[in-house]
Amino acid sequence: MAAINPGVAQTPDSVIIKQIIAEANGNSQLKQYAFELLDQVGPRLVGSPQMLQANNWALDKYKQMGITARNEQWGEWRGWQRGITHIDMVKPRVRSLEGTQLAWSPSTNGKEVTAEVIILPDLADSLAFAKWVPMAKGKFVMVSMPQPTGRPDDNWQEFGTKESFEGMKKDRAAQTAAWRQRISKTGYSNSSLTKALDSAGAAGILQSYWSQGFGVNKIFSAATKKAPVFDISLEDYGLLYRLADHGDKPMITVRADSKEMGTVPVFNTIAEIKGTEKPDEYVMLSAHFDSWDGAAGATDNGTGTLTMMEAMRILKIVYPNPKRTILVGHWGSEEQGLNGSRAFVEDHPEIIKGIQVLFNQDNGTGRVANISGQGFLQAYEYLTRWLSRVPDSIQHDLKTQFPGAPGRGGSDYASFLAAGVPAFSLSSLSWSYGNYTWHTNRDTYDKIVWDDLRSNVILTAILAYMASEDPNTTSRQRIILPVNTRTGERDQWPTPRKATRKGGL
Ligand SMILES: [Zn+2]
Repeated sequence: MAAINPGVAQTPDSVIIKQIIAEANGNSQLKQYAFELLDQVGPRLVGSPQMLQANNWALDKYKQMGITARNEQWGEWRGWQRGITHIDMVKPRVRSLEGTQLAWSPSTNGKEVTAEVIILPDLADSLAFAKWVPMAKGKFVMVSMPQPTGRPDDNWQEFGTKESFEGMKKDRAAQTAAWRQRISKTGYSNSSLTKALDSAGAAGILQSYWSQGFGVNKIFSAATKKAPVFDISLEDYGLLYRLADHGDKPMITVRADSKEMGTVPVFNTIAEIKGTEKPDEYVMLSAHFDSWDGAAGATDNGTGTLTMMEAMRILKIVYPNPKRTILVGHWGSEEQGLNGSRAFVEDHPEIIKGIQVLFNQDNGTGRVANISGQGFLQAYEYLTRWLSRVPDSIQHDLKTQFPGAPGRGGSDYASFLAAGVPAFSLSSLSWSYGNYTWHTNRDTYDKIVWDDLRSNVILTAILAYMASEDPNTTSRQRIILPVNTRTGERDQWPTPRKATRKGGL
């Protein structure tokens, strides 16, 4: 794609594009916004006080930018607040363990609980499990397989002999299959097993969801009513497991002071710069605002959020009177099923029909590397035209794919796509997103790559500007989808799905 040719005469376009680049590079607010959102507010679990704090923080930021913003309630959720958590091994020796209480897990009711740690035994069948399960009463039960190695595969690949790497993988696969059998023989699934242990009066449940990198675990939610559930780091989980397996009867003392907050309202934060010529047509920026809460949600989706906020700040300065309305959606509860954006699509048919284009970013801190046409027949025409105004240095790694096929989930653009809106995903280079930051205990401020983020801000702001100024309204014409070779039927365009408006209860 063409770079801006410095030899050509200045059009108003190129002046504004230069100003976008100058403001993004010379006066970036990304680090300040990131500090306030990720360090001061913290993780943004739907229904948590921090999520509401983040919604209010964003209103405040937009107010400072001189941009109109509002929090729109779209539903209600089980309110839950993380508290102090301590997990200490007290027998056969003392060690403070690295672990995290899962989201929505029960607390220890203001007390410390000390109990023995036992391993889920390998039993013959569900009958044997039913006979055994009273033994879980008052115990912390380990339900995950201990990993045979805490080294990620690429480390083995780099340093191990071929034989030892292959041997490790073979042993691990066999062990994994055996553990899966151990669970299935109880007659329960992973999640219903924790409920059965809960009903039996277990003191707590210990699991370890290794994310296949050094020091990373994925942290999701608990399904129990009384027994608190903890994710324990691979290293400490292995320690407890080996001691218990050897008959040393390890004991831990746990305190988890989370609070139930009843049912609370949940919001999307929406901000807009009103269009002057076509106020009822919208260029929409989009990124989910919520996160899981094992860490700060820095790359999922702090970085998408910061990119859109910073693009809005810059547009307000250099392009305060856009032709079309520039709208940004910071969505709630993407992580539980795109709920905030689905609700917005349901609640705002008047906006949906006027959306010129929507750009969503939600897969980490990397430079945008892929844009698919999502099955819109004419998308190549306008997207390549707008992209041609983005400097080469910024779209260096960017590949486009036309016509592409409509995305069916994964992030909030899919909610709009299902309603026929030309909605696109600004898809990033990975920076080991899947293993190291996505839903992990290490998704923190320090993982942000500022140069890449700044580059994404410039890209987003230029695309928004070009889309707003375009003399044409974008086409929504869809391709005819191919016949699916597996089913023999023609694939259908995705259709809107209902938001969960009352969740976690
Ligand atoms: Zn995300």
